[in-house]
Amino acid sequence: MLGGSVLWFRHGLRLHDNPSLHSALEEKSGPFFPIFIFDGETAGTKVVGYNRMRYLLEALDDLDKQFKKYGGRLLLVKGKPSAVFRRLWEEFGIRKLCFEQDCEPVWRPRDESVKTACREIGVTCREHVSHTLWEPDTVIKANGGIPPLTYQMFLHTVATIGDPPRPVDNAKLRGIKFGTLPLCFYEEFTVYDKVPNPEDLGVFLENEDIRMIRWVGGETAALKQMQHRLAVEYETFCRGSYLPTHGSPDLLGPPISLSPALRFGCLSVRKFYWSLQDLFQQVHQGSLCSTQYITGQLIWREYFYTMSVNNPHYGQMTDNPICLDIPWKSPEGDELERWASGRTGFPFVDAAMRQLRLEGWLHHAVRNTVASFLTRGTLWLSWEHGLAHFLKYLLDADWSVCAGNWMWVSSSAFEALLDSGECACPVRLGQRLDPSGEYVRRYVPELARVPTEYIYEPWKAPLDVQERANCIIGKDYPAPVVNHIVAAQRNRNAMEELRMLLEKAPPHCCPSSEDEIRQFMWLNE
Ligand code: FAD
Ligand code: MG
Repeated sequence: MLGGSVLWFRHGLRLHDNPSLHSALEEKSGPFFPIFIFDGETAGTKVVGYNRMRYLLEALDDLDKQFKKYGGRLLLVKGKPSAVFRRLWEEFGIRKLCFEQDCEPVWRPRDESVKTACREIGVTCREHVSHTLWEPDTVIKANGGIPPLTYQMFLHTVATIGDPPRPVDNAKLRGIKFGTLPLCFYEEFTVYDKVPNPEDLGVFLENEDIRMIRWVGGETAALKQMQHRLAVEYETFCRGSYLPTHGSPDLLGPPISLSPALRFGCLSVRKFYWSLQDLFQQVHQGSLCSTQYITGQLIWREYFYTMSVNNPHYGQMTDNPICLDIPWKSPEGDELERWASGRTGFPFVDAAMRQLRLEGWLHHAVRNTVASFLTRGTLWLSWEHGLAHFLKYLLDADWSVCAGNWMWVSSSAFEALLDSGECACPVRLGQRLDPSGEYVRRYVPELARVPTEYIYEPWKAPLDVQERANCIIGKDYPAPVVNHIVAAQRNRNAMEELRMLLEKAPPHCCPSSEDEIRQFMWLNE
């Protein structure tokens, strides 16, 4: 029996700020086994589009390359985690299993079964909090045992806990003895000697266009991307402002968001948080107090995680205590399919829905637009349909964060009892965010030659204009799926009626102020 330790990667696909890595390396009795296990669910692989699967595999490849520099490698096995660890114990007598906490309730059965297996065989299990700034359970305890209902309450509660921990130092890998898998593993499980392709795992290209891929997965890329992002933040701080991706969003520029990297943990949230706070201090030298706004969006992420930890029904309407039961209608005809595939006849919505399928990415302002179009804005369909679609295709799709945002945008939770008048209009918002229509032309090629004055309302173009643009509405590009002005008015009335009924509603998650609504909607000015 050699002994040794295992670092089980699930999220947290990085070497920097990795307390579980330190913990695993403390066990000196035998070899070190860094492993990722394809169990059909871990790291959001249950329902996954090509782009996110590719991103995950790139992240694993990056880890593998980093371990190879020290004579090791990332072990890649397909199987049931508790069975894999039991066999590692039988073969090597491993003594310690370390992993980063996955706080969402969906992971609890998996982790409980592994913890139980470890107890049975006497392997020490160590779980470390590093995917979130604060441990959700600590926040809930500090709030008297229930999750803070509003974002403001969340801010107050974490203020009583104190600053989030700073990142831990990089672990030293030089001289570490890495473990290799014995032959019997190849017989009992599927073992990958190199990182597989999405196709090897049964995930195939649908609408994705690999020429459009702009996102690269993995820690190495994420750290570089953060440096680039910090340079943008630096300029913004120097101008006396913050939140550079808000206000006037760049829909066409290169990606500067770190949400996919944060979602897989290729970038540590604590590293990003403290880099921003320190940079702000460095720029203002104490002359300006740092405000929660600098890192306010990261706090939304924390808030949504915390709200979901003890709510396994957070991603649905039924049995979800924080979600209002809005009487959405059932999809009629092909309207849901038209929304999902980008054929609603509203160019801004369609460009977005096609960008999502092609690249796995959407700017927040655009997510708001398509989400409100599906729900309270236009189609009046349940946010659950939208969540399912986003969870498959978004690169940064994260159950808690995605469901939280869908409930917010659809007025189902977190939002002041249905009274946010802000509802993204699919025509006006497009005109504001991309006046030249270049975004639409990139993603909806049928509309490429439509003059700018009609680009957001092509159905209003006279027939001769449509002919010259090679785009006859109803033939080359769909007519609008509904009259959005009529629909929006009908929906506003329906919300008004609901609001009257809800005056007597029990305490509900809602924003504390107008300011918070504007901050959430990214409408700075
Ligand atoms: P920044 O403003 O730079 O924010 C920094 C980080 O904070 C982000 O990278 C992200 O990790 C976090 N963050 C920002 N906005 C939010 C928010 N509203 N809620 C929670 N965290 C936030 N974000 C996801 O990470 N995963 C999702 O599955 C997801 N689903 C969404 C679904 C809908 C319907 C909507 C409207 C938004 C969703 N978002 C989701 C939030 C947001 O759109 C993205 O996090 C954002 O676009 C990332 O861009 P950024 O990195 O430039 O943001
Ligand atoms: Mg409910």
